[in-house]
This record gives sequence, structure tokens and C-alpha cells, in this order.
Amino acid sequence: MTSTTLPTTDDLRARARTALDHIGVAVPEGGDFQARTPITGENLFALTAASETDTEEAIAASHTAFLTWRTTPAPRRGELVRRLGELLREHKSDLADLVTIEAGKIRSEALGEIQEMIDICDFAVGLSRQLYGRTIASERPGHRLAETWHPLGVVGVISAFNFPAAVWSWNTAVALVCGDAVIWKPSELTPLISLACDRLLARAADEVGSPGEVHRLLLGDRTVGEKLVDDPRVALVSATGSTRMGREVGPRVAARFGRSLLELGGNNATIVAPSADLDLAIQGIVFAAAGTAGQRCTTLRRLIVHRDIADAVVERLTAAYQKLPIGDPFDETTLVGPLITTTALDAMNDALARVQAQGGKVLAGGNRRLTEAVPSAAYTEPVLVRVDEQTDVVREETFAPILYVLTYDTLDEAIALHNDVPQGLSSSIFTRDQQEAEIFLSAAGSDCGIANVNIGTSGAEIGGAFGGEKDTGGGRESGSDAWKSYMRSATNTINYFTELALAQEVSFL
Ligand code: NAD
Repeated sequence: MTSTTLPTTDDLRARARTALDHIGVAVPEGGDFQARTPITGENLFALTAASETDTEEAIAASHTAFLTWRTTPAPRRGELVRRLGELLREHKSDLADLVTIEAGKIRSEALGEIQEMIDICDFAVGLSRQLYGRTIASERPGHRLAETWHPLGVVGVISAFNFPAAVWSWNTAVALVCGDAVIWKPSELTPLISLACDRLLARAADEVGSPGEVHRLLLGDRTVGEKLVDDPRVALVSATGSTRMGREVGPRVAARFGRSLLELGGNNATIVAPSADLDLAIQGIVFAAAGTAGQRCTTLRRLIVHRDIADAVVERLTAAYQKLPIGDPFDETTLVGPLITTTALDAMNDALARVQAQGGKVLAGGNRRLTEAVPSAAYTEPVLVRVDEQTDVVREETFAPILYVLTYDTLDEAIALHNDVPQGLSSSIFTRDQQEAEIFLSAAGSDCGIANVNIGTSGAEIGGAFGGEKDTGGGRESGSDAWKSYMRSATNTINYFTELALAQEVSFL
């Protein structure tokens, strides 16, 4: 199914302008940095990117702001984040509009992205009263050992197009309560939602009396990001994007002994065991594989199905794929919006051609849609491909809705296939066999940062730490104790005796 009527670029421009007006952003037009929409593939506004001088000024101002912010009590810092959360609630619909216009997400997913931002603000406000250090038993009489957590410095947040607002909030809400200043370099593909988030945070800072300089936005392409990567005043670079980007950023930050938090590509898999509840599994698989048009880092890309049920699973998936409504993401009945660019569609077609040359069989989908109506946009049917083995194409992340279906005979074989890719972000198993589920979650099971049972690979909650291993970069963001990446710890030894006792019973003098 395809919704054949799409909004025009003029409609979308007007809708974006209305949302920005409500939020208080005056669109700074006149430069050569384009805001565009994947819904029609056309440009919306000509903005101005940050210059080298702007970047230098932002880093210096953020560093100065940090020196004050770090001594503001954490619960007071939490007040800024609480107000931000309230403003996000107030403007949820406008913000979701901008996400749909710039990233092409369907309405319910765009609203979900803003809800995730509200949730992380709530989490961070609570955290502002829970930045706990431990007290450690000392080996010496009359001594106390303690661990103290201090703010780290300026955090450079570099983010990707597919979660254009939520990733910023995971980092920013937590970094701000931790006492850091934040400089945000969003994806060059999503400047409007970034302007909106920045404006709301500035309003929150004004209203609660926090220094506005604790947050700076720098629009621009990777060259702006590179300045943050190389500047020693940026204590932590939190970079979300492709593994290619992480390979460039990680070593450069390490070369100056800075810290990096890398959230990179995934190649996520689900195992479907013979005992699986197939109704549950099919629903979970289709959402994880075709949702967000396959453009989530946690998108399901490989399905590893037990041979005995493979035909039944494939038949049901094929039927579901044939019914997916594709088209205008603002239309409430649409489930699959556009890919971000025609370049992304080219990469998808290239992967499909390669996998077919390697023996893969397309079972459903793969046709381009709406080409005549919007030739600059990239609408496509999600694709299901049966493969006999995990070839090099299957082991890569193609950021598009391709689901490769593999079969297995034993759980050991399934887990080996599952882990035999360079990435290690998200994973799941559908099974009603508790032993199988536990093996999958054990040290010898999934090697990913996220491992689920009877649920798909995507759609994580903010309460858990989010991130993955291997080529996914090793970072953890959002909930649990991910906040520790945004602070530095100090070990304190306090002697309240009158004698100096040396550790390890050393005598001296
Ligand atoms: P991308 O790598 O093209 O760009 C991401 C960001 O990095 C952009 O802001 C870009 O300007 C910047 N950048 C690129 N090269 C840089 C460099 N050398 N130095 C500094 N900055 C640089 O990614 P994308 O196409 O926007 O997003 C899709 C990718 O992001 C996918 O691989 C997806 O899996 C990944 N992703 C991962 C997560 C996660 O949490 N693991 C979340 C979302 C997206």
C-alpha cells in the first residue's frame, strides 16, 4: 500500500515554520547551509553553519560556563533539566512535527522520540540527587577512604540524523545534572529540530536563572565536529553515528587523552526458536525490521530462524511485508516513511545487488515507491531476503530496511551466527524455553550491549544503559550508571588519627 498524496514542500515549510514559531525560533535564513525534508527530498530553509570563529568562541564560552556550573549544587542543576522537561511536554507536538519533517519518522515514532526526551529529563532530575560515591573500608586505623564524583568539563555531543533529538537529550540532560557544559553538533541533515531543542533549553535556563552558556549549538557538517574532537578543552566527545565516523573520532580524541563515548552502527539479530510464540515474534520482527524505514541503530537486520519453523515464519513475514503502508509519514495509517536521502536508497540497492550475486533470494519488497510524485525523495518497500550463509554484505550495516533471513539447527549454531558480525549493539531471542533464554543472556550467549527475550531488538527504554560492543564503539548512554561517563571520580584518603600510617605497612622515617 502506498499513500499517494504527499504534502508539498511549501506545506512542509509552512508547518515547520509554525512549529518553530510556537517554540520561539526565528529561522535565521540567508546562508548556504540547507535544511531539507526527506518527505519530498527538497530544501526548506537556507541557514548558516557555524564558522571556525563561532566554534572557537563557543568552546571558550562553554569552558568558562563550566567553571561556574560545576560548583552549582547538583539538585539546583536538576531544576534546569526539570524545566526543560516541562517545556518539552508543552511542545511535544511541535517538536514531533519537526522530527517528521526532517527525519521522515511516522507520527507515532516522532512523538515517541519526544516522549523519550521527556523521560530522560525525569530520570536526570532524579539523578541530580543520586550522584553517589562509595565509602571504602580502609586498611589503616583512623583512616577513611571515599570515592567522590566531580563534574568533568565541556561535553561535545555529535549526533546522527535518525534520532535527531533524543540522542541529544540522553547526553545533555545527564551531562547538565552532572555539572558539565554541553556543545551540540547535530547531524547536518536535521538542523531545525536542533534549533528548537536549543531554544527550549535557553528558555529553561532563563526561567530558572541558570547560565545559558552551559549549552551551545553549532550547526554544520563534520568539519565543525572535528574541531570539537581535536580541542583539549572538550573533555568528553560523545559521538553517535556510523562506525566509519567512530573510527575517525575515537583515535583523534584518544591522541590527546580526551574521553570519548562512541555509539556507532549495529547489525542486530533475532533468534526465533521452535518454541517461540509466533504471533508475538512476527509483530516484534516487523516493527524492529521495517519500523523507522530500517533507520534505527537497533533495527533488526538479521533473522536467525530454526529450520523447522523457517518456512512458516517466512510465509507470515512475507504476508506482513506485502501489507506495509508506505508513504507520507504524517498520514496516521502510514507505517514506513521515506529513507533519509536517495544516497541511502542507492546504498540499499547496492547491498541488494551484492547479496543476490552471493546467492540471496528476495522474498518480498525492494521496489521504489512514489518516484514520479517525488523524484528527489527515497520511498521504498522494506525487503526480506533469504540467505544461506552470512556473507560479507550480511555482516555489514546497510542503513535501510533489509532483513536477511538465515536458518539454524542448534542453539549453539544460532548464537555463533548471531555473534559472528563486527557490530555488537542489540539482540533478541523469541523462545518459551527458559533454558534457551538464559543461555542467550549468559556470558556465552549474545555478545551485544542489549540482549532481549520475547521482544524485538529496537525500542529501548531510557532506564537502562544504552550502547554496544565491538564496532558499535563500547559506549553506554542514558540510564543505569551511564552518568559516570560524564563525571570524573576522585579517591579520597582521610587520616583522622594523630599518626601517619603508610599503606601496605611500609615504614619510612
Ligand atoms: P554519520 O556517521 O554520517 O554522522 C553522524 C554525525 O557525525 C554527524 O553529525 C556528522 O556530521 C558527524 N561526523 C561524521 N564524520 C565526522 C568526523 N570525522 N568527525 C566529527 N564528526 C563527524 O551517521 P548518520 O548517517 O547521521 O547516522 C546513521 C548511523 O548512526 C548508523 O550507522 C547508525 O547505526 C548510527 N547510530 C548509532 C546509534 C547508537 O546509539 N549506537 C544511534 C543512532 C545512530
